[in-house]
Amino acid sequence: MTVSTATTVLELSKRYLIPTYSRFDLEIQRGAGCRVWTESGHEFLDFGAGIAVCSLGHAHPEVTKAIAHQSAQLVHTSNLYYTRPAAELARQLVENIDAEGKVFFCNSGAEANEGLIKLARKFGAVSGGRYEIITFQGSFHGRTLAGISATGQEKVKKGFGPLVPGFVHVPYGDLEAVKSALGEKTIAILLEPIQGEGGIHIANAEFLQGLRKLCDEQGLLLLFDEVQCGLGRTGDWCGWKSIAGTSVLPDGVAWAKGIANGFPLGACWISSRNFMHLGPLCDLLGPGSHGTTYGGNPVSCAAALAVLEVIKRESLLMNALEVGAYFREELRTIQSPFIAKIRALGLMIGVEFDPSIASILPSSPEGQLAGRLATALIAKGLLAIPAGERVLRFLPPLNVTRFEVDEAVEKLRAVLK
Ligand SMILES: *Cc1c(COP(=O)(O)O)cnc(C)c1O
Repeated sequence: MTVSTATTVLELSKRYLIPTYSRFDLEIQRGAGCRVWTESGHEFLDFGAGIAVCSLGHAHPEVTKAIAHQSAQLVHTSNLYYTRPAAELARQLVENIDAEGKVFFCNSGAEANEGLIKLARKFGAVSGGRYEIITFQGSFHGRTLAGISATGQEKVKKGFGPLVPGFVHVPYGDLEAVKSALGEKTIAILLEPIQGEGGIHIANAEFLQGLRKLCDEQGLLLLFDEVQCGLGRTGDWCGWKSIAGTSVLPDGVAWAKGIANGFPLGACWISSRNFMHLGPLCDLLGPGSHGTTYGGNPVSCAAALAVLEVIKRESLLMNALEVGAYFREELRTIQSPFIAKIRALGLMIGVEFDPSIASILPSSPEGQLAGRLATALIAKGLLAIPAGERVLRFLPPLNVTRFEVDEAVEKLRAVLK
């Protein structure tokens, strides 16, 4: 083995980490609230929050306390036994949906979707041997094999075939396309009510209601991937309820990202609806049918309980709505010819840039416009997240202030000048 002379974080990472991510040349040592710092003390305003994960900002004292307290008591037991943090968190998540159901805990967004996909398969197996799931172009459902098979973007699938069969992709928002894709093997429809990775695309109420109606008529499950848009980011516990005019109730919901402020945790909710002779849907995945060793880990659940508690006590759903609206208005005041569109719901904000913006960005041999723009913003001290070719996402913590929004908008304005 050759001895490496690598010493800095970047050198070590490039030498020893498998290069699955296209990362920015930036190392982060610590954070507090909306800000992060490098080892050498450079400060950045973090409007990505670890990709919509740190809902309360970095190193939130109550989350830190909950993690410390729980880890001094019990870190892990396996799912052979019960623990209070998981039981209590499940109750609160069900209450937040405001409909009867039950929760399964896992460790990531991909696994949360995997749970819903397995639910659909099981439901199909006991109702006539159906298995096909309709998903949407531009969607993102995670990096496991079922996740990339469900995802409606070619770039995540390339080189990994054969994929898991049984997924059909249709254009997002197109109810007629969904109807044409229905077949006798169709068992479920899975979608993000607001597409995140795809560039912040928001479903409209008619589409969601049309899907619900179709599912009811055809005996299909309606499954929402709320891994990015759920649990408060849009100003509601349920992302889909933030879409004006919606009153649909899905049969299953997947969560992860914002659930525990960065402690690994995923979850899915399944409705208690009775389907024919099958009994409650949430009891369909019975003993031995699904599981994961770490699922419902008491430390992750304690962190999540602290997150929910602070969101409620500090009215952060309201803050996400109000500061989100303020942010959107401030972005509009930039009035740059380079801004093509702004799409936003609460603190899930996408800015689509015009291709002409290439003219003001430092040229780089490769890289999409959004990535190059994000690099330019890093130079000004602001972290934002590329989504696709020409969209930047701003996903600050739910407790972000108007003052911090002003600062972020000034930095963006400076780059667009
Ligand atoms: C991030 C994301 C996932 C995958 O979550 P992981 O925790 O990375 O597995 C799935 N669906 C959506 C909508 C996401 O944004």
